[in-house]
Amino acid sequence: MNFLEEKILRDGVIKEGNILKVDSFLNHQIDVDTIRQMAYEFKRRFRGVEVNKVLTIEASGIAIATLMGHLYDVPVVFAKKSETANSTDDKYVSQAFSFTHKRHNNVFVSRPYLSATDKVLIIDDFLADGEAAHALIDLVHQAGGEVVGIGIAIEKGQQKGGRELRAEGYRLESIAIIESMDWQAQTIRFREQPPHPLVNTTLQMA
Ligand code: 5GP
Repeated sequence: MNFLEEKILRDGVIKEGNILKVDSFLNHQIDVDTIRQMAYEFKRRFRGVEVNKVLTIEASGIAIATLMGHLYDVPVVFAKKSETANSTDDKYVSQAFSFTHKRHNNVFVSRPYLSATDKVLIIDDFLADGEAAHALIDLVHQAGGEVVGIGIAIEKGQQKGGRELRAEGYRLESIAIIESMDWQAQTIRFREQPPHPLVNTTLQMA
């Protein structure tokens, strides 16, 4: 079991409706040591991949993405959400249905912050149906850039996002993949992942 799976079992709370609450370390309060370990884990899994920009979506992806930007020494861009798009003139706009809020959001990035020379690593906290990830991919493609990888902290493997993104050929790395969870028993089963070499989780940021 990896550090994130252990953390989820220790501090996560399963809610009715297939929702995992991780407010105590990721979605409200941020446990910096845990997200630092995530950043090193993504860096290790995407070793050899050329990245010149990290892209995420507000709000909870920002903390992890910021540490990734630090490790790669590249800019970090976060897509913004709004219910309306006043004008698309100065921005790339896509749409995503929010699994947690049950509504469609416009998702946008101002044009200067994505370009055709970008090799983008997409980072997010959760992957469920893949709506947010597909919107981010769409924004990168509208700018003419390339998606070189997608790094997710927690993938809900029983939902379609991961399956679709892998079938589309994206390099997707999820640190913890939930195979099933039971809110009444408060139990979670994780998908077995290939063993990775030990990471020194006490490393300080470079
Ligand atoms: P997707 O767009 O892949 O359907 O859903 C991913 C987004 O929905 C994430 O950015 C995250 O904010 C939210 N999300 C989906 N499922 C969960 C969940 O079980 N717990 C939490 N905390 N957020 C979730």
